[in-house]
Amino acid sequence: MNSVEFASLMLIILSVILVVVGGMYNPNSVVDTLPPGEIHSISFSLKSGEEVNLLVRGTDYFTLYIFNESSYENMTSGNFTSALYETTAERVNITFVAPEGGKYYLVIANINSPGFIQVTVEYGRANNWPIIATGVAVGIIAILLVVVDLRRVKREVPLDSRCPACGAQVNSSWKFCPHCRNELGGDGK
Ligand SMILES: [Zn+2]
Repeated sequence: MNSVEFASLMLIILSVILVVVGGMYNPNSVVDTLPPGEIHSISFSLKSGEEVNLLVRGTDYFTLYIFNESSYENMTSGNFTSALYETTAERVNITFVAPEGGKYYLVIANINSPGFIQVTVEYGRANNWPIIATGVAVGIIAILLVVVDLRRVKREVPLDSRCPACGAQVNSSWKFCPHCRNELGGDGK
């Protein structure tokens, strides 16, 4: 293996790692306990059109809202208006797409249960496209390196002759046929 092949192999490995890491769902996790009537929120910033995966599990029914910044400012306890997403369940698994760039609030309310609810929230971006794109670019560079290297090797050793004994393609400078060991009479360069 020459140095170009070694570099290409390393780049291909890097490319695969980047694509796998970029595609991996690697959520943040928060565990929270809500007394009856309590409202808790997690804030996160999203770009316009950005996707976030959310998995929320509770020990009892909770109500989940997603607000953007302006709506959350108007929110008071028991007066939920202008939620971008709203549901009541024990388990919620959604992909939320930000309609515009800005700060968003995931609001969890215990307004259905007379007791404490423990809630686990997992949230993360669906895919890290900049990392995936970098991985693909590195992979393309590795393939181009291999193609350029193969062309160089071909130019260096043209198989411009045939072994008279076995008919295999050989270079006219070779002393022996690599297939049948027949002496070819080249100068051995
Ligand atoms: Zn031969």
